[in-house]
Amino acid sequence: MDSQLQRVMKNLELNNMKAYYAEDKAAVCKTVREMLFGGAVITAGGSVSLKESGVWDIISSPEYKFYDRLKPGISEEERLEAFRAAIGCDFFFCSSNAVTENGELVNVDGSANRISSIVFGPKKVVMIVGVNKIVRDVDEGLLRIKRTAAPKNCIRLDKDTPCRTTGRCASLEKSECPSMTDGCRRTERICADYLVCARQCEKDRINVIICGEKLGY
Ligand code: SF4
Repeated sequence: MDSQLQRVMKNLELNNMKAYYAEDKAAVCKTVREMLFGGAVITAGGSVSLKESGVWDIISSPEYKFYDRLKPGISEEERLEAFRAAIGCDFFFCSSNAVTENGELVNVDGSANRISSIVFGPKKVVMIVGVNKIVRDVDEGLLRIKRTAAPKNCIRLDKDTPCRTTGRCASLEKSECPSMTDGCRRTERICADYLVCARQCEKDRINVIICGEKLGY
């Protein structure tokens, strides 16, 4: 583990978040299995990291009560039920757009269902984060969102936004240090609500598993 990673882990703990290091995807899956219990009620944000790590396969197994908002053929009512189930569920799984050396979690959402669950509702939040998402500070985290995370998610989700075709946030054409409101004005914009999790009041509600391999974007 390099010194930057050690700083991140130490500062997450100082911020009352439980930090785990898993060398590879298999180790991530092992840590997740050890956290869960049979019949646990689980919800999740849409996340490439969860899919790539194999965690999605674990949480969607019949051993748990998983509300799968990405289930093929899901009705709008079932999808809304999955969002509502986050309130009071045992575990909410997602990734983080960035994790800073100070142990802050930086995230942006279009409809805020993920960031709202990170801050309130689920009894435990479990984040699966590849080393590629570690940044120096919040500003670098916001830039990471504009340069990498948001454009790639717009491509994945086929959003009608300029970054889906250019691969870069429109705000970067104006400045290399855009504000949070800069960027496109499209209806399908996904950079609407920004969340920074700093020191938490409830110790170890948020669990961050940092994987030594790259995951998601
Ligand atoms: S503001 Fe618009 S163009 Fe910029 S990353 Fe977000 S969705 Fe893409």
